[in-house]
Amino acid sequence: MRSQDHDRLFLSPPHLGRHELNYVHKAIEDNWVAPAGPNLAGFEKDLCEYTGVSHCVALSSGTAAIHLGLLLLGVGAGDEVLCPSFTFVATANPITYLGARPVFVDSEAQTWNMCPDRLREAITDRIARGCTPKALLLVHLYGMPARLPELLRIAAEYRIPVLEDAAEALGARFEGRLLGTFGDVGVFSFNGNKIITTSGGGALVSNQPELVEKARFLATQAKDPAPYYQHSETGYNYRLSNILAGIGRGQMELIEDRVKKRREIYAWYCTHLNELPGLCFGPSEPTGGKSNRWLSTVLLDPAQTSGTPEQLRLHLETRNIESRPLWKPLHLQPLFAEAPMYGGAVCERLFDQGLCLPSGSAMTDADLRRVAGAVREALG
Ligand SMILES: *Cc1c(COP(=O)(O)O)cnc(C)c1O
Repeated sequence: MRSQDHDRLFLSPPHLGRHELNYVHKAIEDNWVAPAGPNLAGFEKDLCEYTGVSHCVALSSGTAAIHLGLLLLGVGAGDEVLCPSFTFVATANPITYLGARPVFVDSEAQTWNMCPDRLREAITDRIARGCTPKALLLVHLYGMPARLPELLRIAAEYRIPVLEDAAEALGARFEGRLLGTFGDVGVFSFNGNKIITTSGGGALVSNQPELVEKARFLATQAKDPAPYYQHSETGYNYRLSNILAGIGRGQMELIEDRVKKRREIYAWYCTHLNELPGLCFGPSEPTGGKSNRWLSTVLLDPAQTSGTPEQLRLHLETRNIESRPLWKPLHLQPLFAEAPMYGGAVCERLFDQGLCLPSGSAMTDADLRRVAGAVREALG
């Protein structure tokens, strides 16, 4: 799919390689369409080897992985779970599935991820109100490493287990170690717009084998070890299919290329659009952090330009280029109107000023020039 001028440029479309079909073919040839099969085991092994984590279960979505992850950490009805406000709704929805309540925390301006100071404030205030948070959802938004040392230290201090939502962050690193491997449980997504995709899918990883075993058990209807169907717990149907895992195996061969390309796209935009007044690039990497630059994001500083992100988005749309506002903070969503929020000014400003530019790893130089040209038309 090469872009001519009249073709639509999408924000982050799937980018398949050459080997996905071989794995899918093999599954069909061998009549191994269901249930779990060699592609599924292979995909889980690929993920373990790549991330350096010891155990992995491939699931039907990142959302399913977060749901099971919270369950494994003991979250249940009436509990409170700490969560950044600045994230996609799928981070927080599983809290509600379990009858628990989100407690939202603001971002900090460099990484755009959870602010350690606001986190401490939230924890001490919840404890003062008689409710110690049951878990911390730590998100690496847009593939940018959060302030891991500070956030993990605070969680450890209060003995709060950590679920790392690395749905957008496969291939990003902190001090050389892959994101998703720092929490008690880590989660990845292989949805169609992510850095690699199985068309739809997710994974849960952990270095604690019993947690991953339990996730696998719960994801396959929680069948007790008996020759007949016997169940002592509520289970789910959350396993990834052997066919889709085949797509995942082909994509895993390409992950390092995809990270390299997304980082190049971000660097290209920075170099070629840096002269435009009021256009700022971000977020930026914390010391020791290396983002996968899943999406290239910009802010428009109202002190320096009269152009708004919405005007820019609409102008790009007239050139058949898709762009999108940053995630709308969850504490501003009607769905979570009642949830407690600590801070808020930082993520509200990001939402007001930000825009995501086309970032797909199949973009050509001509595509990039086309976006840059349209941005200059709008702001120059
Ligand atoms: C995509 C995403 C999810 C959910 O993953 P799905 O595979 O789409 O269910 C969760 N959290 C974040 C931050 C995401 O971007």
